[in-house]
Amino acid sequence: MLNNHFDYIHGKITKLLTKTHITIFKVMDAKRYNNIKLVVGIGKAVVSFLLLFLFVWLGYSRELYGYLAEDISNQYLLFIAFVLIIGAAASIIFAPVNYYTGYYLEHKYNLSNQTFGKWLFENLKASVVSLVIGLPIMLAFYFVLNKFGDIWWLPFAVVMFFVSVVLSQIFPVVILPIFYKLTPIDNEELKSRIEKLAEKAGIKVENVYKFDMSKNTKKANAAFTGLGKTKRIILGDTLLENYSVDEIASVIAHELGHYKKKHIVKNILIGTASSFLTLFLIAFLYKISLNWFGFTSITDIAALPVLALWSMLIGVIQTPLGNILSRKFEYEADEYAVKETGSPEIFINTLEKLTEQNLGDKEPHPFVEWFFYSHPSIKNRINAIKKFALLSTGQPSESSDKIELGNA
Ligand SMILES: [Zn+2]
Repeated sequence: MLNNHFDYIHGKITKLLTKTHITIFKVMDAKRYNNIKLVVGIGKAVVSFLLLFLFVWLGYSRELYGYLAEDISNQYLLFIAFVLIIGAAASIIFAPVNYYTGYYLEHKYNLSNQTFGKWLFENLKASVVSLVIGLPIMLAFYFVLNKFGDIWWLPFAVVMFFVSVVLSQIFPVVILPIFYKLTPIDNEELKSRIEKLAEKAGIKVENVYKFDMSKNTKKANAAFTGLGKTKRIILGDTLLENYSVDEIASVIAHELGHYKKKHIVKNILIGTASSFLTLFLIAFLYKISLNWFGFTSITDIAALPVLALWSMLIGVIQTPLGNILSRKFEYEADEYAVKETGSPEIFINTLEKLTEQNLGDKEPHPFVEWFFYSHPSIKNRINAIKKFALLSTGQPSESSDKIELGNA
């Protein structure tokens, strides 16, 4: 009898230890995976900056321009050739790093479903797409630079506003299908569940799609994308296959929160406002620093890497500012999800499951989160959700009013 009892307790303890052990290993794995990606990412940014700096400082930029000018007389063609050569050089230099983070690490941590060939192909597609989008923008930039001189940043910010509107609009219908197959949701139970949630938010269930995320990765994700008529919610098949209807509904409610709170429109508007400011700053810094590198004209193609250097530096300020806004939107969408589904426990559970599946760092260093994270860490999200839940279920007057005001 006593022996049995000991066996039982022993069994319990072993089970607990094994579970803790696995959890600890998983947490350590997630930490290591995210830290490696962070360090490599920062390293890559710093090296890019230094290489480009040396490229101009040591006169190679001028040399490349002179070399191209021997054969190309049209300045626009020359500009494009100049940009493409630097871009190609960067791709070659960073190919090993990109292979390491994009392919090797993903396989090492058992997150990838891609063969090497497939990975290469997807990258090639991404490069072509960014070229097709990027080249006209570059040409527009060079045009306004030549046409408007010192105030080029003003018309260029206007151009970028239209670009962001058009890109947001065509993203789910033109760009996304290049990478993924989008299909309507076919699970009837889920569909009727989505219908109820979507109706309340004023979006049609036909606008909720599944995409074949599993062809590339074991990670799961969902997103709200598009603008106007193209707005839609997309759910990874990796999410649909491994989560219950309740769990999926909580994710959809979050995405609907992004829609209801008009986050895409706000992103475009705030992004445009900030681009006026940052482009003005970049234009100013570019102009006053030209002669440090021995240039005299802002339209000199060989001097343009200086402009790129400044935009990289400004980006260091922009990144955390953009992320602060993005995290605010995530909290708002979480709050909406909690209110609409009325089940914070399921939502919290789903977020935890997703973080584990995606090998997310549950508790990154606060500075790392503040600077780099577009989404709050799971720990902060759960704390906030618990707060929303508490406020929306009971506690009258003061605290509920605060939340309402916060949304207005
Ligand atoms: Zn979100």
